[in-house]
Amino acid sequence: MKTWYVEDAGGGCQAFGEVVVLVCEETGEIYSARVPVTWSNKMSWEELVCQLMQELMEQAGATKADQFLVCSGNIFHTYHKWLTEKGYHWQTHKMDGLAHDAAEGAFHNMVVEAGFPEHIKLIERDYRSYYSDIERWVAADPERKKLYWKDREVRKKPSLPRYVLKSTLSKARSCHGCHKPIPPFSPAVELKYRQDGRKFRFFFHPQCSPVQPLKSNLLQQEVNWQGERLAGIVVVCPEEVPCTLCGNPLEVGKKAFYAYHENKLICGHLECFEL
Ligand SMILES: [Zn+2]
Ligand SMILES: [Zn+2]
Repeated sequence: MKTWYVEDAGGGCQAFGEVVVLVCEETGEIYSARVPVTWSNKMSWEELVCQLMQELMEQAGATKADQFLVCSGNIFHTYHKWLTEKGYHWQTHKMDGLAHDAAEGAFHNMVVEAGFPEHIKLIERDYRSYYSDIERWVAADPERKKLYWKDREVRKKPSLPRYVLKSTLSKARSCHGCHKPIPPFSPAVELKYRQDGRKFRFFFHPQCSPVQPLKSNLLQQEVNWQGERLAGIVVVCPEEVPCTLCGNPLEVGKKAFYAYHENKLICGHLECFEL
């Protein structure tokens, strides 16, 4: 069991994206990721950060046996929720020590990589002077400003875009990613959000979704089928059709199994299949 600290840096600076770190004090392991200056509008800031944190946890081999002490900042709100939903042991924590230094160091490295003078450093936590020096340096050159000025708008976008793993049920949908059809009764990622009073809803093949959904409403099930394992889904039956196996009708409103075998839809009573 390890204790991981999660911290960010650079949020108060008007230039450059934030950095986030995952740090273990006992082993000295430091994993860090950079939030871009801007990105396309599909994801909120908090969701993007949550995704980066999941990638860092994967790199670090963090498990549910580990403990997570996470900075309480807004930047981690979606990540907090995700940790809770997934059953991780975590709590908010006022950061100092290695995690704090690692985050500041990672932010400084990013700024220096862009050409900022290395010797101008954060001194005695005087963020205001350090960040103004960086902001002035970035703003002094229009090309630099284009590349490194923080996009505040994209960061304000509410965490509303919601990606949920579910199924297409009895309707075929068109994938918003590859524009090819998603057949009925297939796993699909649904994106729903509201913008300027309008509602938007899109579907993606799971492999075409720009985001790994944080939520799943999909029950997947494998069954034995003609000597192989066939992966399908279990959903509430929306219309009466005969069971592929016993021929008796599937009852509307009851859970039933649906899968494709050689492009043919197979559906049936769960109890008719060998699980
Ligand atoms: Zn697709
Ligand atoms: Zn049956």
